[in-house]
Amino acid sequence: MGFLCIDIGGTNTLVGVGNGEFKVVEKYSSKQFLKDISSHIDQIIEETDTVIEKVAVAAAGPMNKSEGVFYPPNMAIEKVNITEPLQRYGDVSIINDCTSAVLGEYHYGEHNCDDLVYVTISSGIGAGVVLHGNLIEGSDGNFGEVGHMKIADNGVSCGCGAEGHWEAYCSGNNLPKMAEKLTGKRFEDAREVFDKYREGCEDATKTIEKMKDYNARGFANLVNLYNPEKVVVGGAVALNHPDLVVEGLEEEVDVKTVNRSPKIETTSLEEQSVLHGLRAVCNGEA
Ligand SMILES: [Zn+2]
Repeated sequence: MGFLCIDIGGTNTLVGVGNGEFKVVEKYSSKQFLKDISSHIDQIIEETDTVIEKVAVAAAGPMNKSEGVFYPPNMAIEKVNITEPLQRYGDVSIINDCTSAVLGEYHYGEHNCDDLVYVTISSGIGAGVVLHGNLIEGSDGNFGEVGHMKIADNGVSCGCGAEGHWEAYCSGNNLPKMAEKLTGKRFEDAREVFDKYREGCEDATKTIEKMKDYNARGFANLVNLYNPEKVVVGGAVALNHPDLVVEGLEEEVDVKTVNRSPKIETTSLEEQSVLHGLRAVCNGEA
């Protein structure tokens, strides 16, 4: 069964083509990819010489599964009809990106457990959950907007308009805002906050310590809600800085939870968790 899997992230889009397993995976800028979906897809299909029957797409951002549309955040595009340009390649399924990621980890990661939570810390924060081997999707397919859970009360605004949300502090997009609120110092982006931390900058250190505290609060809430056996962490911020984002989290979460602290580790599939979840959908394993 030839398949086409497309993971449209806030910054990059991964496209994988294969049959059972991936034959090829290509990376594009999401803005470029969304401008001309068909020509990118035509090219990769031609290269792999694969007859496509199934198409699965995951998108970072809210979506409406029945209408086949999603609303990409941070791209100055209001709405993308994703099903329409892809229908000619095969049957199209669309799925939330974190939901797909937990599915990928569950089927193809090295975990061997039936109660698994996946958390992405990237431009935003979100989660996917498998409980007793069952995927949770929600009525609109938008399960897992955990970045919008309130974890503090000091007036930092989230992109959604509310205050005190987890991703308003700890996501890649918002870490510099937290730094400025906390220390008065302006950082260009999250990368600079981490770089300055590693150089010993006092303001960056204060920010990273706060980030660790807020991340522990967010993860503790998830552990109390879902009682997972394991939590897998992905997303660019976590994958680029596992020592600051993931290491030590188990101990911090343990003191904040009623439930037993699970294993918390970085993803075994690295940046391809979402893509492997789409592969599971195409292979009929979802
Ligand atoms: Zn929010």
